[in-house]
Amino acid sequence: MARMLNGSCLCGRTAYEVEDAFDYAMYCHCSQCRRTTGAAAKPMGGIPVGKLHLTTDAEAALSFGKGEIRDVHCGTCGSLLFSIVREGKWAHVAYGTLIDPPSLAPQEHIFAADRAPWAPITDGLPQWAGHSGISARLD
Ligand SMILES: [Zn+2]
Ligand SMILES: [Zn+2]
Repeated sequence: MARMLNGSCLCGRTAYEVEDAFDYAMYCHCSQCRRTTGAAAKPMGGIPVGKLHLTTDAEAALSFGKGEIRDVHCGTCGSLLFSIVREGKWAHVAYGTLIDPPSLAPQEHIFAADRAPWAPITDGLPQWAGHSGISARLD
């Protein structure tokens, strides 16, 4: 049984628990991630949806999106907690909402071609133009 990590929104009304067993972690610089977080990039970790669950009532959360692909926010303060992606089978947990530190730190930058021009990437991690592994390397 993996260690469990707790995560919460800004106001505390919506919280979750996730296994410390992320399969991948990265910074996403796409415009959608920048807008939904208000940050230069979104650090996130990918994990099968079954390893994540809300610990507060489902009505407290707000889903944005259609069908299997959606962002889950707190319905009160609006924090983005995680996204349901990849045909509804995976969750991308917004690392900024984790209370406990995950074992896996972000390993690369994706959609670096879309990054905000005022936010240069200054670490040594790989930079992909788009999706990891299948787009051009920019570093
Ligand atoms: Zn909240
Ligand atoms: Zn993104």
